[in-house]
Amino acid sequence: MSATLPALAQNNGASAAPASQNAAAAAGDAEAPSAVNLLLAPSTLPLQYPPFDRIRDADIGPALDQGMAEQLSEVNAIVDNPAAPSFENTILALERGGRTLGRAYTLLSSLTGADANPARLKLQADYATKLAAHRDAIALNPKLFARVEALYQQRATMNLGAQEQRLVERHYNQLLRAGAKLDEAGKARMKAINGELAQLGARFNQNVLAEVNDSAVVVDSASELAGLSEEQISAAAAAAKTRGLEGKYVIALLNTTGQPVLSQLENRALRQRIYETSIARGSRGNAYDNTGLVSRVLTLRAERARLLGFATHADFVLKDETAQSVSAVNAMLRQLAPAAENAARREGGELQAMIDREQAAKRQPSFKLAAWDWSFYSEKVRAAKYGFDESQLKPYLEMKNVLENGVFYAAGQLYGLKFKQRRDLPVYQPDVLVYDVFNADGSQLAIFIADMYARPSKRGGAWMNAYVDQSGLLNQKPVVANHLNIPKPMDGKPTLLTWDEVNTMFHEFGHALHGMFSNVKYPSMAGTKVPRDFVEYPSQVNEMWADWPSILSNYAKHYKTGEPMPRALLDKVLAAKQFNQGFATTEYLSAAMLDQRWHQLPLEQIPAADGVMDFEAKALREEGFDYDAVPPRYRTPYFSHIMGGYAAGYYAYVWSEVLDANTVQWFKANGGLKRELGDAFRAKLLSQGGSQDALSMFRAVVGHEPLIQPLLERRGLVLDKGEKAKPTK
Ligand SMILES: [Zn+2]
Repeated sequence: MSATLPALAQNNGASAAPASQNAAAAAGDAEAPSAVNLLLAPSTLPLQYPPFDRIRDADIGPALDQGMAEQLSEVNAIVDNPAAPSFENTILALERGGRTLGRAYTLLSSLTGADANPARLKLQADYATKLAAHRDAIALNPKLFARVEALYQQRATMNLGAQEQRLVERHYNQLLRAGAKLDEAGKARMKAINGELAQLGARFNQNVLAEVNDSAVVVDSASELAGLSEEQISAAAAAAKTRGLEGKYVIALLNTTGQPVLSQLENRALRQRIYETSIARGSRGNAYDNTGLVSRVLTLRAERARLLGFATHADFVLKDETAQSVSAVNAMLRQLAPAAENAARREGGELQAMIDREQAAKRQPSFKLAAWDWSFYSEKVRAAKYGFDESQLKPYLEMKNVLENGVFYAAGQLYGLKFKQRRDLPVYQPDVLVYDVFNADGSQLAIFIADMYARPSKRGGAWMNAYVDQSGLLNQKPVVANHLNIPKPMDGKPTLLTWDEVNTMFHEFGHALHGMFSNVKYPSMAGTKVPRDFVEYPSQVNEMWADWPSILSNYAKHYKTGEPMPRALLDKVLAAKQFNQGFATTEYLSAAMLDQRWHQLPLEQIPAADGVMDFEAKALREEGFDYDAVPPRYRTPYFSHIMGGYAAGYYAYVWSEVLDANTVQWFKANGGLKRELGDAFRAKLLSQGGSQDALSMFRAVVGHEPLIQPLLERRGLVLDKGEKAKPTK
C-alpha cells in the first residue's frame, strides 16, 4: 500500500484478508482431489514452502474440513484432560493445534488474492460461514474457558516467563472478547447479534454497490463533457449504450465522496451535479437507503459492547489496539485536525485566487470555491507550480533492478541481509520470483516471494502475506510474499516503474521484513500479528530508504545507458508530494473522526434512521470540520470501512504514520543508514512480532512517547517562519 492516507484507506494492510476479488478468466482445476492430499501434512520443500504445482483446488475443501475436525478434537482432548490445567496442557496445546486448518486456509486466502479462479472464489464463499461457526464453537466452549481462566488467575505465581504470561493473557482476552464469560442467555444473544450483523454487513455492501450503479450520472451532450479525453468520452457513450441510453453519456461513480472526473470537467454545473449525486448516495430514501441499516448496526454493536462490559463499541475495539482508549484516539485526531484544516484553507485560498484570475480574464464574475471545484482548480495550480512530466523518471526505474539493487540493497546496508534468487521451487504463476534470504552470518532467514505484476486473477492494491509463519515452538522459518499490481509490458519491453510504484515496493517490503525478522516462540505472536493500528508502521518506515541518496544512486540508473537519474528531476516529484496535503489529510481526518463519533455513542443515544444524517452533520461541526469545500472522504451511508472491519479503526492509518514519522526522525538524528541502527530496530521491534506491548517496543527504539510534530512536518502542515516546510523524506 502506498504512503498517502487515501490510498492506504482504500487498500487493506498486511494483516487484512482480501476484501473482494476479480472474477478470474481461467477455469479452476475441476479434477478430482489428488490421491495424496498434500495440504494434510507440512510441505517437505525447503522451509515448508507450498508445493504450488501439486496442490489441486479440489484438495482445499477436504483439507479445510479435516482441519476443522482435527482442531475440534484437539480442543476436546485439552478440555477432557483429567489433569489440572497447566500452561503446557492448555495454552501450549492450543498454540500447537490447528495446523492443518491454518495451512489450508492460508493457501486458500492467499491464492484467492493473488491467483483467483471460480473454484477458489466459490470455496472462499462456501467456507466463510462454516469457519465462523467453527471459531464460535471453540471460543464459546465453557470447559475450555474454565481452563484458560484458571491459568489466567494463577499467571503471576506460575513461574512463567514474560512472553508466556503475555500469551496466557492473550488467550484469555480473546475468549473473553468473544463472549466466553456470558451466561447461556448472553451467549445466545451474542450469537444472534453476530449473525444479524453479518447479514446487515452484507446488505450494506450490496446497497453501496447498487447506489454506485444507480447514481451514475447521465449527460445529454458531448459538449458538456469538455475537459475529458476522447477515450473517456467514448467510454461514457459506450456506458450509456449498455444502459439502453444510446446517444447519451454515462459517468460512472466511485465509492468515495470526490470523483476523479471532477478534476477534468470544465462545466461547473455538471461538476456540481456529479458531486451532489455522489454525496446523496445511501440516504435518498430509495430501496438502497442505508440509514436504517447504519442505525441498526450501530445499535447492535453498542449492545454487544455493553454485554461484554464496555461503555461503547469504540471502547471495546480500542482496548485491544495500540491506542488502547478512546481518549488517546480523540486526542490524536483533535491535535492533527486544526493543522490539517488550516493547511486546507491555505490551499483553498490559492485555488480561489486562481478562480478569480481566470474569471477576470474571461470578463466573467468570480464565484466562491465549492467542494465540486476543488480538484479541478487544484490540478491547475499543481500544473502551474510543479509542471513536469513524471514519466521522465521511468527509464531509471526498471522493476527488477529496483527490487534487487534498491529494496534488497537497502536491507543489506541496514540489516546485513543477502538475497539469492532460486528457480527450483514451484510457483503458481510464471512471473513470480523466489529468493532465499540470508543473514549476515550466512544462516537462512526466510524465503521471499515477489509477485509484482497485475493480472485479471489478482485483486487490486498491494499487500504482504505469510505462507509459513515463523515459530520457535514449531521450528518454522518464514515464507513471506509481496504482491503489487504493476502493469506488465508487452513482450520484450522493460518494466519501468512510476515513483509511486517504487515507494509501494519499499512499503510492502517493510511488511515482509516484519514477517521475516520475526523471532518469537509462539505462532500466534509471529511477525505481523500485531494490532491493526501498528501493522502499517514498519512498512511505512521502510519507505524512507527509497530516496535515501546512497540507496537511490545504487538503483536509479537508466535501463539502457546506466546513467544516474538526475536528482533535480526526483526533487520535483518529491516536492509535488506535499501539494494538496491539507485537503487529503482533512478529508481523511473528518472521516476518521466521524467513525469515532459513531462508535463512541452509548446504546441509548444512537439515532433512528431519520436522525443519521443530522447526527453526521452535527458531529462534524462539533469537531471543527466546518470548511465546506473539504467534505469527509466518505459519508456515513457509503462508509464501507466502518460498517466492515474498520469499525472504530479508520484512525489506524494515521496512528501508524505518527509512529513512522517519529522513527524516521530517530534514524535521521542518529546518522541514517547505519547497520547499528538497523540492528537495533530489528532487535527491539521487527523481530518481536506481537510478543510485547506494541507501544513499549516503539519507545524502546525511539526513546520517547509518540509526537505529532514529525508527521505535521512531513505532510507540510506546519509553517516555519512563513515558509512552507521542506520535504522531510
Ligand atoms: Zn501496508
